Amino acid sequence: MRLGNQRASGNVEDRRGMGMVGGGLGVGGIVIAVIAYFLGFDPSTVINVAEQIAPQGDTREAPKGAPADEMGQFVSRILGSTEDVWGKIFQQSNSEYRPPTLVLYDGQVRSACGMGQSAVGPFYCSADEKLYIDLAFFRDLQARFRAPGDFAQAYVIAHEVGHHVQNLTGTMKKLEAARERVSQAEFNRTSVRMELQADCFAGVWGYHAGTMNQLESGDVAEALNAATASGDDRLQKQTQGHVVPESFTHGSSEQRVRWFKRGMDSGRPKDCDTFSTSSL
Ligand SMILES: [Zn+2]
Repeated sequence: MRLGNQRASGNVEDRRGMGMVGGGLGVGGIVIAVIAYFLGFDPSTVINVAEQIAPQGDTREAPKGAPADEMGQFVSRILGSTEDVWGKIFQQSNSEYRPPTLVLYDGQVRSACGMGQSAVGPFYCSADEKLYIDLAFFRDLQARFRAPGDFAQAYVIAHEVGHHVQNLTGTMKKLEAARERVSQAEFNRTSVRMELQADCFAGVWGYHAGTMNQLESGDVAEALNAATASGDDRLQKQTQGHVVPESFTHGSSEQRVRWFKRGMDSGRPKDCDTFSTSSL
């Protein structure tokens, strides 16, 4: 990627090296909201962890603004690029884009949605409108998922920003409603539609990053490779040796690639309607 002319976003909270502090977990009750992951994890695993750990009184403030180190600068510029792109798209439909905050952390982190752990990968919490990333995941992406490249990392951030867009536009409520109403299988099917739309929104951002001259040759291939590596079928084959489509929460490799491409080809969010299509 070429990010030399891209401003860094200041909407970054750097909790690296701070241990388990901060966050918005209320005393006396845990707000359970939707946490949308990049990988196919069951949100209840994280919420269970949250219930075992009592809220702490530590209120140390995390530094805010773009961190100075190389990775901190990179994620802040990607976030800045997503703000510029979605800011314009929202403006075109006469609404205002409220940017999310990106939280960098090590190991585990407290969010308004419960405890997050780096083992589950990057996630978005709709209750505090923050995306949480342990940068160790980017090393995993390269080493464990064999998906190297800066645009692969940018795709991960853009996917979580896609969930924020779903939150702003009210789409995320569909998942919250599905959780209360329906069977696990039905919930999973709704989750897949949400996730594929977030992939498509990541593609929409990628299209506009291209028009801003931020892409280099090979970048798109990096994102497609990362989308392939994070398909539920691929992950299940790796972790349990067999594939159970009913338990998919993010979609197959083929689907993730296809929806990312759709956004990347057109740059239009309306082409990302995964909810009314009959063929995902
Ligand atoms: Zn997701």
